[in-house]
This record gives sequence, structure tokens and C-alpha cells, in this order.
Amino acid sequence: MQEPIQEHIQEPIQEPIQEPIQELQWITVLGATGSIGVNTLDVISRHRDCYRVFALTANTQFDKLFEQCCEYQPVYAVMSDESAADKLRQRLAEINHTTQVLTGERAQCDVAEADRVDVVMAAIVGAAGLEATLAAVRAGKKVLLANKESLVMAGQLFMDAVTEHGAVLLPIDSEHNAIYQCMPGDYRSGLSQVGVRRILLTASGGPFREAALSELAAVTPDQACAHPNWRMGKKISVDSATMMNKGLELIEACWLFDTTPDHVDIVIHPQSVVHSMVEYIDGSVLAQMGNPDMRTPIAHALAWPDRIQSGVSSLDIIATARLDFEAPDYERFPCLSLAVQAARQGGMAMVSLNAANEVAVAAFLEEAIRFNQIAQVVEVALEQAENNEPRDIDEVKRADFEARQRALIAISRLT
Ligand code: NDP
Ligand code: MG
Repeated sequence: MQEPIQEHIQEPIQEPIQEPIQELQWITVLGATGSIGVNTLDVISRHRDCYRVFALTANTQFDKLFEQCCEYQPVYAVMSDESAADKLRQRLAEINHTTQVLTGERAQCDVAEADRVDVVMAAIVGAAGLEATLAAVRAGKKVLLANKESLVMAGQLFMDAVTEHGAVLLPIDSEHNAIYQCMPGDYRSGLSQVGVRRILLTASGGPFREAALSELAAVTPDQACAHPNWRMGKKISVDSATMMNKGLELIEACWLFDTTPDHVDIVIHPQSVVHSMVEYIDGSVLAQMGNPDMRTPIAHALAWPDRIQSGVSSLDIIATARLDFEAPDYERFPCLSLAVQAARQGGMAMVSLNAANEVAVAAFLEEAIRFNQIAQVVEVALEQAENNEPRDIDEVKRADFEARQRALIAISRLT
């Protein structure tokens, strides 16, 4: 008699208990209270015999940082906001906690470059993360880069510092982490040297991929932050909705993999299961796949070149059933066109793009401008961008400041 065909049942896979695979590593988490910070601490909590927290940093959320101090016992906690730092200090003193509270940008850099630190998770959002991320790079740390804005602003200077100081740079952005995993080990000798034809950078298309164009003017911050596949901080969620995020990621990919926008194709893939692909000259296309959960790239980068458990469930490929791919719609997403333009234009244009976008997104979140005005503000700031390359970080900061001023003027004209 024929055996009944067994239905596909996904049994939970019993993971074997993993032995510590490396020596104890000390880690600083910049932006610990954010979405990436919290996911990083979740992965670390699964491997307490491998990782110790040296420092945690945040801006204003002292309650959350207090809880994290109790849980992870860091040597230092840094709060950028001074009154928040005072409140954290007070709460820790009440329970005789030994974590020392510091404040200010210099303190963020100190905990990123301290001798005892092996690994730095760079997960502050926006230009505010540049100095501390660079401090970690200049101290030759293993740097897990989530803060894509620092690379967009200061790409050449940043990558030069990585080489000069022997830092190990591992991408956390899921797409770039996927590309990294699909690259051959010696890709730094040049993509054409190792037979790579192009990078396929996937994008979910965000919450408004299919919305009527006429509806975009009335989009609220809550609607823009409701990403279909990922739970993230507000700024990157809005960037995903305008697709500026993919533009920033295109620039990020060019710096990380030493290539040009002509060799990076953006592909809309609504399921966010294929996290990006690399095509080789023989026609092979390698993809990295998995559930959309940032703990996978975080665990990959933390343990690299080893592998550790991340807490991410097994991909149910049968339930996923189909993978769709389509071309991006540049009319719907003008921010994407502006980012491509800035990428071709050069360093200062990329600084302006990033700065104006940060200002415009903050204005949208405060409901001072409409969703479709974000691109208008960025466009105005970009029109006046210089066409040269910044020679040092001071020039980057000056261009960043000036672009913010241009963006604020553009916003005042719109409101
Ligand atoms: P969140 O907004 O969730 O968290 C940002 C973190 O940075 C918080 O710890 C926040 O502190 C801190 N911070 C904010 N402003 C400052 C400041 N001025 N000085 C010092 N610290 C500050 O962001 P995400 O975690 O979503 O994103 C972090 C970075 O990672 C971004 O660059 C983003 O593009 C990138 N990224 C995020 C992904 C995600 O899934 N979330 C995916 C890929 C990349 P506080 O809580 O006190 O405000
Ligand atoms: Mg991404």
C-alpha cells in the first residue's frame, strides 16, 4: 500500500548547546537604546560567556539605559543629554550600582576607542554617530556598522581610516551584510578582479509601494513608520517609506565594496526574504536569504568569521512560497533619484543629501512638512551643494551644517 504523502510540517529545530567559540570579547554599543542596540543586546544575552559589555550609550532615554545597565552591567554608560545623564546617575546611585555615567560627545568617543574594547556596534542614528564611529575606526577596532549615515557623509575619509588603522569593518545593514556574505574573501582586491559583475541591492519598497500617488501628500508619520516587514527607529522607517534609505544604501554599497552606482542595481523585492545578491561574470547569482530579523546580520558580524546562534527562527521557505522582484519606480520615489544624483556628483553632494534629509525627516515627523515635501527640501539643498570632495572631517561638518541651514530655509518657505 502506498504511504500517505506527508504534509510539510515545520518542526522547531533543536539547536545544540554551543561551546564558546572565541575568547571573551569586550563590546561597546553606541546607540544601545535604539532598535539595533536592543537587538544587539538580545544576541549578546545568548552568549554571555563570549561577550562582556564595556559601555552602552544613548541620547535621552535614561529609563531604558538604566534597565540595560542593570541587565548588562557595563563599566560605563554615556548619555549625550546632560539632564538625562544626571537622572541616570541618580537612579544608579539609589541601588549602589557601579556603572559610571559619562556625558558629552568626547565621552562617546572615549568608550569607542578605549583599549579594553574589542568590538564596537555603531548604531547611533544619523550624523550624530559620525565622530564616535570614526573614533572606533581610528582605534583599529572591529566595527559593526549600522550607522550608514556616517559612511554616506564621509565615505572616502572613513574608508581611508579603516585601511590606515587596520580596523575590521563589518556591515550590519541587512543588504550590505548579505552582499558581504555573497562576496569572495578577497573582494577588496577589486570586484572585477574577483569576477563580480554587479550587485543587486534589494528593497522592500516600504509601506507606499502600491499607494495612489495622490494619497502621498496626506500620509501621517504613523503611516510612514508602519513598515510592512521591519520594526525600526523612526528616522530609518521614514527613509524606507521615501526610499531615501535605498539611496543611502546605494552610496553605502559603493563605499563598502569600492564600486560605482553603475554596478549596483536596485531591485524591489516586497517579501524581504532575499536580502541582496551578487552576480558573477559566469552568470552565477548568489543570494543571502533569511527571515527579516536584524539579529541575523548582527550575529553574523559579531561572531565573524565564526557563526553563532541569533535567536532568529528558521526560514519557512514553503510558507514564503513566492519571491517577487520588480524595477523601482523613480517617479513615486524622487528621493531615490536624488540619492543616485548625489552619488554621481561626489562627496560634498552626499554630505548635503544626508544632512538635508535628516532635517526634512525630522520636520515631517513633527508634522511641519508633508511627506512628499521631504524630496523637495532635499532637492533644494542639493542644488547648492559644492562639487568637490571633502579633504577632512572639518570640511564634512561644515558642509553638513550649511546643508542643514539650506534645508531649514527651504522648510520655512514651504510652511
Ligand atoms: P533608533 O532611533 O531606534 O535608535 C537610535 C539610537 O541612537 C538610540 O540609542 C538613541 O538614543 C541614539 N541617539 C539618537 N540621537 C543621538 C544623539 N544626538 N547623540 C547620541 N545618541 C543618539 O535607530 P535604529 O536603531 O533604527 O537605527 C540606528 C542606525 O542603524 C541608523 O543609522 C539606521 O539607519 C541603521 N540601521 C537600522 C536598522 C534597523 O533595523 N533599525 C537596519 C539597518 C540600518 P535615545 O534612545 O536616547 O534617543
Ligand atoms: Mg537596509
